[in-house]
Amino acid sequence: MNAPSKSRADLAAGSASASFTLHGAGVSGGIAIGYARLVSTARLEVAHYDIGSEGIELELERFDDAINQVRGELDSLQAGIAAGAPAELGAFLSVHRMILDDPALSEVPRELVRARRCNAEWALVQQMDLLVAQFDEIEDAYLRERQNDVMQVVERVLKAMAGGANVPAPPSREENIIVVAHDLSPADMMMFKQHRFAGFVTDLGGVTSHTAIVARSLAIPAIVGLHHARSLLRENEPIIVDGVNGVLIVNPDERVLSEYRLRQDEIELAREKLKRLRRTPSRTLDGLSVELFANIELPQDVGEALASGADGIGLFRSEFLFLNRRDRPGEDEQFEAYRDVARTMDGKPVTIRTLDLGADKSITGAHEPGPNPALGLRAIRYCLAEPQMFLTQLRAILRASHFGKVHLLIPMIAHAHEIEQALKALAHARASLNADGIPYDKAMPVGGMVEVPAAALSLGTLIRNLDFVSIGTNDLIQYTLAIDRTDDSVAHLYDPTHPAVLQLITSTIRTANRAGKPVAVCGEMAGDLSLTRLLLGLGLRKFSMHPAQLLAIKQQVLRSALPELEATARRILRAPHPDRARALLEKLNA
Ligand code: PEP
Ligand code: MG
Repeated sequence: MNAPSKSRADLAAGSASASFTLHGAGVSGGIAIGYARLVSTARLEVAHYDIGSEGIELELERFDDAINQVRGELDSLQAGIAAGAPAELGAFLSVHRMILDDPALSEVPRELVRARRCNAEWALVQQMDLLVAQFDEIEDAYLRERQNDVMQVVERVLKAMAGGANVPAPPSREENIIVVAHDLSPADMMMFKQHRFAGFVTDLGGVTSHTAIVARSLAIPAIVGLHHARSLLRENEPIIVDGVNGVLIVNPDERVLSEYRLRQDEIELAREKLKRLRRTPSRTLDGLSVELFANIELPQDVGEALASGADGIGLFRSEFLFLNRRDRPGEDEQFEAYRDVARTMDGKPVTIRTLDLGADKSITGAHEPGPNPALGLRAIRYCLAEPQMFLTQLRAILRASHFGKVHLLIPMIAHAHEIEQALKALAHARASLNADGIPYDKAMPVGGMVEVPAAALSLGTLIRNLDFVSIGTNDLIQYTLAIDRTDDSVAHLYDPTHPAVLQLITSTIRTANRAGKPVAVCGEMAGDLSLTRLLLGLGLRKFSMHPAQLLAIKQQVLRSALPELEATARRILRAPHPDRARALLEKLNA
């Protein structure tokens, strides 16, 4: 991955419209051609200067104009909320409007400008620092969180004073917009799901970060780890996102543009052709059936899963129901979401993963993330620390099991006692439903995710209490190779074919097969075309991936013959050097 230099002049010989390229990691295939939409990050450092007594009125006017501009922007954002967007989006905007209208923000800085004859930006930031310090004192985590809202509103006003609009006029239709951000959280990505942007690029993030996973599920070209795209690009600048090769081309000339348009057409054509495979049974050349499931984040993703011809939902990341909102979804709301998916899948299995909160997916009022979030209170650890929240979810999932074929999946298990405690909580949920006379599937299978090496290595014992296993390779790779999935500075070390990773996957598949329990891979490896044959050769017969990738994987299955794959996969496992393993893998995919 090439880290570009920080100056545009270095890259483009000083010319604003000269073309240059940036390299990152492509996380979602395809090519997008459009215009840069810079998504703002906080920049609250401002200059401080004396305006003299004669400058006071003008400065106040500048400040008032900025406040009025932001008022207008918030109102138009509120009016433009797409139908079906989370109700919380409107609530966010109302809170920002209230903060803006509060005299503490719109009046006090004016008094400071008068008293100190200082510029309005500086006065505003002084007042913001004071307010934020007051929020810091508040015990209630929810209210303390509001300091972020204050900072975001101040940022908007500062931007308006700098002469910029926070809601730039769209350069063209939404389909031509490419979002350029320094970093986006999984929650930000969920908000973007309401739109139909052409692509995404970010400076930070690894290929298996949840942000990248959501970008992939949007099936639009995306690149992460570009380092300086946000600072180098200008609003509305024409760009090409090559999500296949992780290349961003800024200000392409006509020749490059027509080349990429051609490739775009080719990709589109290939996608259309793949649709013909929707109803084709997924079988290898020698007749072995391979199950292909879809991963979803929200109930509305289920349509795409069905359209891809998925055999079921292999992973419903239920925690996404909890993001971008101030409250937590109650039992009924969760039940309805799970039931709708179970019903829509019409008898096909729906694997609902219990909350995988913590790490990069945090919710309002949650535990403090801790010094090392990926190793902290996350997934099943989090649920066991929040028994009431866990019980609510378990009751909701059990209730939904009455309306389809629901499976329950416990994330990130490492200890036998975590499974035992989770099963106890489930027994408690069952007993409470029995007492309420509410029906549920008494035989609902319960599985565990193998995501930490400890689980893979001790699966022989853990599996006794499980009905099935799902390998979360994103985390398994993170924890085996000790690379934070969200940290792009170690993203180059992400290697699904590392011998340690392959050994853990192989032993997990073998242990599950020996125990006669189904095993799937639901991490990003399952949707990676270059690894399909290897996984088949290692004995995997169940894959779960984002629906956009499913038909391409099916095509690969249809073109594969098992005996050959098994022999080469064994040789890859025994390869004396990674280069040899890579060469064998290439041969396998040829
Ligand atoms: C994984 O870790 O591979 C997985 C499927 O779970 P998530 O990506 O949501 O952590
Ligand atoms: Mg995981």
